[in-house]
Amino acid sequence: MPELPEVEVTRQGIAPFLVGQVITGGAVRQDRLRWPIPRVLSSALPGQTITAVRRRAKYLLMDMPAGTLVLHLGMSGSLRVLTQELPPGPHDHFDLRCAGHILRLNDPRRFGAVLWQPAGGKLSSQPGLFERLGLEPFDPAFSGAHFWQRTRGRAAVIKQVLLAGEIVVGVGNIYASESLFRAGIHPQRAAGRISAVRYERLAQAIREVLREAIAHGGSTLRDFVDSSGSPGYFQQAHQVYGRTGAPCVRCAQPIRHLTQGQRSTWYCPHCQR
Ligand SMILES: [Zn+2]
Repeated sequence: MPELPEVEVTRQGIAPFLVGQVITGGAVRQDRLRWPIPRVLSSALPGQTITAVRRRAKYLLMDMPAGTLVLHLGMSGSLRVLTQELPPGPHDHFDLRCAGHILRLNDPRRFGAVLWQPAGGKLSSQPGLFERLGLEPFDPAFSGAHFWQRTRGRAAVIKQVLLAGEIVVGVGNIYASESLFRAGIHPQRAAGRISAVRYERLAQAIREVLREAIAHGGSTLRDFVDSSGSPGYFQQAHQVYGRTGAPCVRCAQPIRHLTQGQRSTWYCPHCQR
């Protein structure tokens, strides 16, 4: 599943081909993604110039004067830029055409989304989508103090609070395990019982693991253009994630696995309290 680092690397991979381009049209081959692709796109997009390609959480936002095209990769989605016409495959559900390029969305499981937010208006079919999102991990306002304030009195365990994305976005299952390990915090610790100092460590650890993953994915940037298949999701070496029974990189004790809210968590019982 594409996580925040994959979405950010996708943004970096496609943006140079899109910003400043005039949209000439689009093609919707399958409009039943996670939510229906809005029909208004066929009239809203042509003639628009893309002014920026941004990211908010795991959403890609393409700004143009008339509004913002919002894309989400869901469980299995990927985007690539074609510099020449290629016949679409069975899972190539959406194309955005510019004068020189085609942006093509491939999504076998169809949990992805293509939405439209007219300038000054509400997001199509999901108007409240962005209102529930926490801070961006690289936003200077995201800090240990912010974490600490938002978790006072909360009995929920810290791993679940991270995954919920209401305090900080982009900390998916892999990065929750990894950042809690780096911060020395046990994944089952109640969020309301973690000190401000430890939350500062956690905020730093989250930024570190995400920054490293984005840098790691930078080597795949060329895969976004004219590749025959879909750009892959990158594999990174993890310190705890997926390492059941393997020695902890700090203390050599075996890494343990547990299931929280139907999601796997890995941690070191000696290093994480
Ligand atoms: Zn350890």
